[in-house]
Amino acid sequence: MTAFDFDLFVIGAGSGGVRASRMAAQTGARVAVAEDAPLGGTCVNVGCIPKKLYSFAAHYAEAFEEAHGFGWSAAKPSLDWQLLKSNRATEISRLNSIYGGLLTGAGVTLMHGRAKVVGPHEVAVTVQGETKSYRAKTILVATGGRPLLADVPGGELAISSDQIFDLLQFPRRLLVVGGGYIACEFASIFRGLGAEVTQLYRGEQVLRGFDAEVRHFVADEMIKKGVDLRTGSDVESLVQTDDGILACLKDGSMVLADTVLYATGRHPNTAGLGLAEIGVALSANGAVKVDAQYCSSVPHLMAIGDVTDRVQLTPVALAEAMAVVDQLFGDGRRAVDYALIPTAVFTHPSIGTIGLSEEKARAQFGDVRIFRSDFRALKHTLSGSSERTLMKLVVDVASDRVVGLHMVGPEAGEIIQGFAVAMRGGATKALFDSTLGIHPTMAEEFVTMRVPVPD
Ligand code: FAD
Ligand code: NDP
Repeated sequence: MTAFDFDLFVIGAGSGGVRASRMAAQTGARVAVAEDAPLGGTCVNVGCIPKKLYSFAAHYAEAFEEAHGFGWSAAKPSLDWQLLKSNRATEISRLNSIYGGLLTGAGVTLMHGRAKVVGPHEVAVTVQGETKSYRAKTILVATGGRPLLADVPGGELAISSDQIFDLLQFPRRLLVVGGGYIACEFASIFRGLGAEVTQLYRGEQVLRGFDAEVRHFVADEMIKKGVDLRTGSDVESLVQTDDGILACLKDGSMVLADTVLYATGRHPNTAGLGLAEIGVALSANGAVKVDAQYCSSVPHLMAIGDVTDRVQLTPVALAEAMAVVDQLFGDGRRAVDYALIPTAVFTHPSIGTIGLSEEKARAQFGDVRIFRSDFRALKHTLSGSSERTLMKLVVDVASDRVVGLHMVGPEAGEIIQGFAVAMRGGATKALFDSTLGIHPTMAEEFVTMRVPVPD
């Protein structure tokens, strides 16, 4: 008899939790995971995957239009929102089952219930009204985050990204509030699907933190595609009227919408989890404070992913899970390198970026050289689309290293992924220059830009 029921008890079977429990069980450890919602967490159920499926759906509208220039003709297509939702739901259920199979196949004990930490080594799980407690050598909190709700009068009329995928009716008029990843992606997607979209952002330009030129470029492209993007604009109150939800804005103007999507950030899921009660240090917004080894202030209680409120991206949660498993059950050498995290924003057109913005590179290195190319893709010479593509390299003059690489254009994420490997290897501009392009592609621009932008 050992004192513990499990070597590792994971709370939350999202991106981080599934990866950690599965990999830990594969080492022979006794692992349990508790999840009170469909398996896969935010990414699978209400995040990356359904979002990307809807983004694909939205791109077809453009493709039908553009096909005319290539000689195709067809009756005007229309969207069957109910069919799109139902096909998405079928695919997500398929993924939920795959996750279940992966966990049980690896020997993980899967508990479909809500977990609460009740002691430094003890977790209580409530399944269908019945609560049982388990003792675990290590507890891993991987409970993710949840959307912040609208904090204005009438805010209860607004929805979050959790609800947008299953709207009963397709919103003919959509108002999006926010200027981050989620707001920009859903403004683009629903515009592509055919909605009239108004997006309000309180600041000077959307996507704070990204390269300034990228932010302006993508905003211009979104506006060209019909998103009514209003910067320096915010909601005062929301009121239900017979003709929809009336948003009264701080500048006195009004917007009428069928659906109001608030995408103003997410906060960590720790409410009611019992962490503060056992002395786990939390930050002001409830994030579990962890050290470089993902340990909280309570020994043997660790946390990874969105609940730590650091980098809210699935590959980061996965990498953190692998590092924790390696630390607990492997040789402990695996570490997550938070420098050079590539990321994509699935706006239309999309953004792909890795490394430093021009502004941050100038602040860090002083002397930087910028290479940029802004062009209309070959495809659009016949498609009739006025969409433009931006590619940009930021080079540290002293070392010749490419320290920032940015793109706004189709499939930017797909293109950036490979360059991320090169940049992690310390690729210099000379190495880029010595690489042959693949012709004719957009990506070849990254290895053919020779003349820097004049200072
Ligand atoms: P989650 O995946 O959120 O999993 C946490 C799990 O814990 C949930 O399943 C929850 O139900 C469960 N849980 C919580 N409390 C309890 C409890 N007490 N008991 C039992 N279970 C509990 N990232 C990308 O990299 N690319 C993208 O394209 C992308 N798109 C996104 C789009 C949207 C709309 C959103 C909202 C997010 C997107 N993200 C994307 C971010 C990504 O989804 C998250 O970073 C990732 O899911 C975090 O994983 P996690 O394991 O930390 O948490
Ligand atoms: P973000 O933090 O990215 O953006 C929040 C936005 O809302 C900002 O523009 C912010 O403005 C604004 N905002 C915050 N509070 C208010 C308020 N009270 N009133 C009006 N506006 C407000 O959060 P998201 O919700 O968009 O996404 C959460 C995270 O999920 C992302 O940061 C990302 O890590 C992840 N994600 C990743 C995706 C991907 O990889 N493609 C896709 C979707 C999400 P300000 O800038 O002024 O603070």
